[in-house]
Amino acid sequence: MNYNKLFSQVVSRSKASAIRELLKVIARPDIISFAGGLPAPELFPTHEIANIMQDVLTKTPKQALQYGTTEGQMELRTELVKLLKETENIDVTTDQMMVVSASQQALDMTARLFVNPGDSIITACPTYLGALQAFHVAGADITGAESDAYGILPEDLEAKLAALKAQGKQCKFIYLVPDFQNPTGTTIPEDRRIQILEIAQKYNTFILEDSPYRQVRFEGTSPRTFYALDNGRGNVITMFTFSKVFVPGFRLGYIIGPEDVIRKYVILKQAMDLCTSPILQLATGEYLRSGMLMQHVKEIIAAYREKRDLMLETLAKYMPKNVSWTRPEGGLFLWLTLPKHMNATDLLPKAIENKVAYVAGVDFYPQANVFNDMRLNFSYPTKEQMVEGLKRLAQTIKDNL
Ligand code: PMP
Repeated sequence: MNYNKLFSQVVSRSKASAIRELLKVIARPDIISFAGGLPAPELFPTHEIANIMQDVLTKTPKQALQYGTTEGQMELRTELVKLLKETENIDVTTDQMMVVSASQQALDMTARLFVNPGDSIITACPTYLGALQAFHVAGADITGAESDAYGILPEDLEAKLAALKAQGKQCKFIYLVPDFQNPTGTTIPEDRRIQILEIAQKYNTFILEDSPYRQVRFEGTSPRTFYALDNGRGNVITMFTFSKVFVPGFRLGYIIGPEDVIRKYVILKQAMDLCTSPILQLATGEYLRSGMLMQHVKEIIAAYREKRDLMLETLAKYMPKNVSWTRPEGGLFLWLTLPKHMNATDLLPKAIENKVAYVAGVDFYPQANVFNDMRLNFSYPTKEQMVEGLKRLAQTIKDNL
């Protein structure tokens, strides 16, 4: 049987993720990896999870082990509505929210819900490559708008929207990771968010706000979310996830948006997986209700702040003069820029020979046209690995300057 003749167009549009392919190579124990986006496993609240799971199975076994509603367990959504009010001053009802199997599913669903092959969307440049993958699979025509140290540039965003309009094209949505962006670590300030919202409204499109790292802030104060700034006008759909503040293995996240749009997501999700695991939703709801989540977030912040500081210190000590990097106020990543003539993709095999790994920046660009930067993760390596790994990386760069 020749399957190649039978695959759908979607398959021919999908390519393997560079990161996921790379993760296989760098799983070798002798390699120090800054490549993944993995939370520190030593921080997982394993005992608390075991206790809560036991509790959930004792108190509500039938609900925990039965199919659940596609919208998500009401116990969890009720807790999330409270959390959003308390921490973000966001007013939503449980009908304006649905639980998803983490943000990646929300990205996939959003693409299916809004994008026909050939439809235009805009993202920042660079942006999260998993989102680019999901949008590519849907056949989106992706335009990247330029960014600076404060995220997407409103002037360029408007120019790109105007150019699409001049070609008679409607931008379906603007995808943004406004807080401690993956991959650059940058955060969009509030005044810029307001400007971006106005531009989106002017061009009749909406903001898809994806903010997995928002709660992991080391210092300073958070600008309001796009969702809060929009103040119920229906111009924003926002997705959050428990992957970075709790555990990624639960595959749990949630979307908020206008009720009629959430209903469409629900219909789509029915066809995809019927529901997200009820037992994991109930356990997470209980983790939230008991106050353990907020406590845990504090521990994560303290641990990652130390690691971020150590990464910045070590980079300053060992990197050659013409290399620069961002200084994120939170999240899991920073973005390192090599001199223009260097190519981070070509450098990677040499780094791996020196037993250190990173993700080359090119895959984060919608047009894959910038080659001299790389993403470094600081949450996963231990402090010892961090120093040793960055020494190796600095040496690799010096040897190839
Ligand atoms: N969006 C962004 C910006 C991310 O960085 C990630 C994961 N690294 C995701 C979505 C997907 O996360 P998850 O599916 O685990 O919620």
